[in-house]
Amino acid sequence: MSETRTKCLIIGSGPAGFTAAIYTSRANLNPIVIEGPQPGGQLITTTEVENFPGYVDGVAGPKMMEDLRAQALRFGANIVPGLVTEVDFSDRPFKVKVNGTDTYIADTVIISTGASARYLGLPDEQKYMGMGVSACATCDGFFFRNRPVAVVGGGDTACEEALYLANLASKVYMIVRKDYLRASKVMQKRVMENDKIEVLFNTNTVSLFGPELLEGARVVTNKGTENENEYAIAIEGFFLAIGHKPNTGVFAGQIELDEQGYVKTIPGRTATNVEGVFAAGDVADPEYQQAISAAGMGCRAALEAERFLMLYE
Ligand code: NDP
Repeated sequence: MSETRTKCLIIGSGPAGFTAAIYTSRANLNPIVIEGPQPGGQLITTTEVENFPGYVDGVAGPKMMEDLRAQALRFGANIVPGLVTEVDFSDRPFKVKVNGTDTYIADTVIISTGASARYLGLPDEQKYMGMGVSACATCDGFFFRNRPVAVVGGGDTACEEALYLANLASKVYMIVRKDYLRASKVMQKRVMENDKIEVLFNTNTVSLFGPELLEGARVVTNKGTENENEYAIAIEGFFLAIGHKPNTGVFAGQIELDEQGYVKTIPGRTATNVEGVFAAGDVADPEYQQAISAAGMGCRAALEAERFLMLYE
């Protein structure tokens, strides 16, 4: 049990959170960053980041987050491990509870809790969770060396995961519900040119099977047409890469969220409907969801928090 007062509390430690921490530390706000359940955020589970300006040859996701963290620490940010379990934004200063015990009293809050992987919602996903089902190829791909696997989705994440797994697995199916890949052209080309990857277009997953560990999936191609075809593929790993949902459960009822659960910000700004609470990164951005756009938003949230404190203190 503790109570800590701060001018700026940053919730989440991805590119948005750490960028906000760098800016607010340099502005002498002595920010506290609550790291959350996955310190470093989603980039911790990413392989190569090739599109963050400044890294000419690309950089491993975990290395980039290590650098951002070190940069925030260099200017005096206080980085605290822990999970926010309760917030009270009804009055300023705001109250934020961490791990159910420690209370932070904050003049401003920057929400940068990011987003988490989505699942299809099949009961079998739960059944085989950790026994073949995963939403992170870089975390779990290692277990499937020389085994057949499948990746669900047709976006950049799915292509990235499929390419990563192609280096380990004996075969990679991509289960894509439409007749095209949504991913960027460069990723599509890499996937299509990889001999180990077979893209199953117009295909959905029906179920997963296996006595204990996963042994296969039943999939259906061209469902609802005269060419409908349901069949089984032998796979030991089933990797979801079908997008993300914002991590905003703890803020429900305290702050305005959109119908998908993303934090609503005033257009063109990071301010939320609660004065003094700002949001940055994927948690408030269903559109771009890039490390660089999250970092840019973190910078803007920090500057807005700084200005807010100048005006209201
Ligand atoms: P996207 O939303 O871009 O893609 C999600 C994919 O999953 C789509 O192919 C979608 O199909 C499919 N999908 C969604 N729901 C289901 C479902 N219920 N059943 C089957 N398939 C489903 O998400 P990503 O995570 O790939 O990317 C998010 C953002 O991050 C994008 O802007 C992307 O460009 C970016 N990104 C960039 C990277 C890079 O540049 N290195 C790496 C990773 C991500 P459908 O097309 O039919 O909707």
